[in-house]
Amino acid sequence: MSAAEARSGRSIVSLAQGEPDFDTPVHVRDAGKAAIDRGTTRYTDVPGTRELTQAIIRKFQRDNGLTFEANQITIGVGSKQVLYNALQATVDAGDEVVVAVPAWVSYPEMVRLAEGVPIIVPGKIDAGFKITPEQLERAITPKTKWLMLNSPSNPSGAVYSAEELKALAVVLGRHPHVWFMSDDIYEKILYTGKPFPTMAAVVPEMASRCLTINGVSKAFAMTGWRVGYAGGPAELIRGINLVQGQSVSHTSSISQAAAVTALDGPMDFLPPFIEAYRRRRDLVVKAMREIPGVKVMVPDGAFYVFPNCEALLGRKSPSGKTIATDLDLCMYFLEDAGVATVPGAAFELPGHFRISYAASDATLTEGMKRLQDACSRLA
Ligand code: PLP
Repeated sequence: MSAAEARSGRSIVSLAQGEPDFDTPVHVRDAGKAAIDRGTTRYTDVPGTRELTQAIIRKFQRDNGLTFEANQITIGVGSKQVLYNALQATVDAGDEVVVAVPAWVSYPEMVRLAEGVPIIVPGKIDAGFKITPEQLERAITPKTKWLMLNSPSNPSGAVYSAEELKALAVVLGRHPHVWFMSDDIYEKILYTGKPFPTMAAVVPEMASRCLTINGVSKAFAMTGWRVGYAGGPAELIRGINLVQGQSVSHTSSISQAAAVTALDGPMDFLPPFIEAYRRRRDLVVKAMREIPGVKVMVPDGAFYVFPNCEALLGRKSPSGKTIATDLDLCMYFLEDAGVATVPGAAFELPGHFRISYAASDATLTEGMKRLQDACSRLA
């Protein structure tokens, strides 16, 4: 029972989590145990172990057609650390970073921590939650350092196609001072049936100013192991490693050993995960579409649905409270229906809320029923 459940004395259906509900595959867990028993328990090099660096080089080549040398790879404490290090290493006070939103909550905050200015560019639901080349062109100034893009996206599940990436690259081609940060952490959780496109591979001319970030958290259900990595130009990677070397040093030696097994090992555990996610996605989309006024885009990846709830705003709850914002709506869902969701404002796109379907079918079925009932009680 969660703390919120204990306080309220009722069951809470949590649809707010950002991690797989599956366990780390057995062979990867075994590799972690073996690393401890072998004594792989000491400091490693700051950029990561040689073994994991080589496994990452193989992964980029195999999955993405990207070729890297060892000095072009960095391994961090989750991809979150890599994103943070990259911004710390490159952003000076007042520099601008274009953030395509809805975006993961940490992006704007990390930019601010580096004393940069996040330039928020909204991808609306009618545009499939993606930004257009015209929007990007308008957002770029002489102060722009980066465009940060996450595909498949948390929270929308939107996936940029190769053609869409190429169109953005045309704009970036006119602004050679702008670099591209590609957050590919949800690469493997994809329902398009097509190969996953990433900028450095789709537009090879962009590779010299592209940081391609990935990790084992989502694909291998390894969120707690804290292993993320990136490939990019050697000079940028050197800067990232400088930040890392004076802060966290490196991620756990044991986790790095397990990640080698994850990246090099069999992937046959994955299709059943993806099938389960797809089934749950369809369950959530169907249920949300049954609520009058709620607009839903069918996500192409990740494990989130991001319904537009603007039609519900301005209505009153049974207790007479006006639901003015997406935050009010999520509070109402929590307090009246016992369902935890995340308001769109947290992702810089108000008027929406995020449902995570990394939960069992039974949990989702109960959650959807409660949300439908709660919405039908709004007047
Ligand atoms: N990027 C996005 C878009 C995420 O949603 C998350 C986690 O939720 C991360 C990065 C960080 O993942 P990790 O640090 O576990 O690799």
